[in-house]
Amino acid sequence: EQQLAYIRSTVTSIQDYPKPGIVFRDITSTLADAKALRLILDVMTERYQDQGLTQIAGIEARGFIFAAALADRLGCGMTLVRKKGKLPRAVHSQSYSLEYGNDTLELHQDALNRNDRVLLIDDLLATGGTMRAAADLVAHSGATVVEAAFLIELKSLPGRERIEQSGVPCYAICAYD
Ligand code: IMP
Repeated sequence: EQQLAYIRSTVTSIQDYPKPGIVFRDITSTLADAKALRLILDVMTERYQDQGLTQIAGIEARGFIFAAALADRLGCGMTLVRKKGKLPRAVHSQSYSLEYGNDTLELHQDALNRNDRVLLIDDLLATGGTMRAAADLVAHSGATVVEAAFLIELKSLPGRERIEQSGVPCYAICAYD
């Protein structure tokens, strides 16, 4: 509990960013804090060390940071779920809706197979559209999605339901209203 309170204390809340009425949760201050960064990885290592994971899949861009560090701790590989047009080989693609328009995530077709047990990571869960698309991509590759993990979950939005609806469990270290 004390550890979670410490991690929480390092997140910066920015009023009216990127537009009026929105409170942006900025984790650059958390990443810059050596103790917070270590605690986050301790919490995740403890939770996932005995899950038989083979790959940690990070979502571009802040998800990459946690995925790479955790993959090193757990002795797993790291898989990149990227925005459209960034991956050089054949990809699976999944589009999802944003407040204005659409976006697409991609995964190399040969990145994962049916023997993989995959943890998905992103920094923050809002509407769940991003993670749902990433989980669908991993499932499409035949791999098992063990869980979707976040540093922060925004409880005022139905992100968790959207992910759990697809049969994927959801975990966040800190929750905000
Ligand atoms: P969702 O698809 O609506 O769940 O949005 C989640 C994505 O938007 C994640 O990749 C986050 O990095 C980003 N995001 C949304 N809101 C915030 C915020 O307040 N702080 C940092 N990232 C955010």
